[in-house]
Amino acid sequence: MTQLIPTTSLDDQDRPVIDATRHNAAVRLAKGRYQILRRLTSGPLILMFLLGPWLTINGAPLLWMDLGNHVLHLFGLSFWPDDLLMLTWLAMASAFALFIAANIAGRVWCGFSCPQTVWSMMFTWVEENIEGSRNARLKDQQRAFLKRNLLKLFCKHTVWLTIAFITGFTFVAYFETGQGLWQGLIHATANHEVIFWLSFFTLLTYINAGWLREQVCLHMCPYSRFQSVMVDKKTLKVSYDVERGEPRKNKQPSDKTSDCVDCKLCVQVCPVGIDIRQGLQYACIDCGACIDACDNIMDSLKKPRGLIHFSDENPTTQTTSRRFKSWLPKERPRLWGYLAALCIALTLLGLQVLTKEQYEFHLSRDRGQLYFYQELNISNAFTLSIQNKTQQAVSFKVASLHPSLFIQSGSELHLIAGQKASLALRISCISNCPIKGKETFNLSISQHGTKQHELKGTFFAPTGL
Ligand code: SF4
Ligand code: SF4
Repeated sequence: MTQLIPTTSLDDQDRPVIDATRHNAAVRLAKGRYQILRRLTSGPLILMFLLGPWLTINGAPLLWMDLGNHVLHLFGLSFWPDDLLMLTWLAMASAFALFIAANIAGRVWCGFSCPQTVWSMMFTWVEENIEGSRNARLKDQQRAFLKRNLLKLFCKHTVWLTIAFITGFTFVAYFETGQGLWQGLIHATANHEVIFWLSFFTLLTYINAGWLREQVCLHMCPYSRFQSVMVDKKTLKVSYDVERGEPRKNKQPSDKTSDCVDCKLCVQVCPVGIDIRQGLQYACIDCGACIDACDNIMDSLKKPRGLIHFSDENPTTQTTSRRFKSWLPKERPRLWGYLAALCIALTLLGLQVLTKEQYEFHLSRDRGQLYFYQELNISNAFTLSIQNKTQQAVSFKVASLHPSLFIQSGSELHLIAGQKASLALRISCISNCPIKGKETFNLSISQHGTKQHELKGTFFAPTGL
């Protein structure tokens, strides 16, 4: 049986074996099943990202951070600052889902779904389709600038900037709504802040995906630095089968029939520029591009696929029963811990969403005088605040439940979806007011004749009447 021997451990953070050539401008696009899988995972995410500000549920975009009203609209639900706990559970659930993915299959998030990788691959695809293959691009890069194919260069940067602009526009539209931002731009009414953030995100996308690419993963992204704490011995990582591949054909003469022909395609397709044959490295984002490239070579040589493949640290022990046992909690305590944490976070999130109040009511006394006279009645001034946390417009009627008190002015409030509004209430006592000093009363708040809520207040009147 072949044995796979990683030459570095997952914890060996200090030794990325990165191709010394200027790699990011010369990545070769791989073709194969992992690249199809990446398109299948990233395609729907890109589509959702682009359509998010345009598609609406109950009149609000799928995702809209309405900073003016302090509301986050997310898939038909609205979250106010006092719903922060719910968002905390959502963030925790997302984080633990990421930890689980990392524990099972390393940095698959980075390789298959991370916007940095997906956008970089998109830009590389544009580059390859306009400027030609990796070899043609490398040749062109070696020429003096004015002798390069400037038309192709111009077209490439124009397409890059267009993609970057669409990305920046979509990102800003999450704060402004797609329609709002579009109207603001075509009628030149968008304010300076909007123009600034639109330019900022356009430029950021252009620089990150067009120029920096793997440098972001290697030097800026914190995730690669702490991913080693999430993995265990059973975590699947992209690995090179040293026993089968070494010694490489072009490296040293040997009697042993080894499979690696040292074509270096696995290095050329690697978006972070590492040579996986040097062993596991923290820079590897488990994108599977080297697997696809190598599988294609093995196919052409009529050799079995899998010289590079996903494997845990000890593939020789992978019998069926061992595989099953390796999923038991005592074998993978970290994974089961993450699963438990994910379930807890999702349960708490679900409970909070189900018990979420649709409206919030608050009654406060106006500062100043305790009571005053209005048309010969003793009156008190209050402010009733109502927050409509639904996506529908609503109307509320307010009535006093105290036999001696009535609402002299302000008894109806109309709110649009997601609105928070206040109503000035003048509550008065009937003539020959029986209240002396102070007395508590209840207000009924009803919607279409059905009582929604009851609020308590205190009414003040002169003591000596
Ligand atoms: S693609 Fe496969 S055969 Fe070619 S160098 Fe890499 S490991 Fe060797
Ligand atoms: S070594 Fe392979 S899996 Fe890792 S980043 Fe490079 S191409 Fe992707």
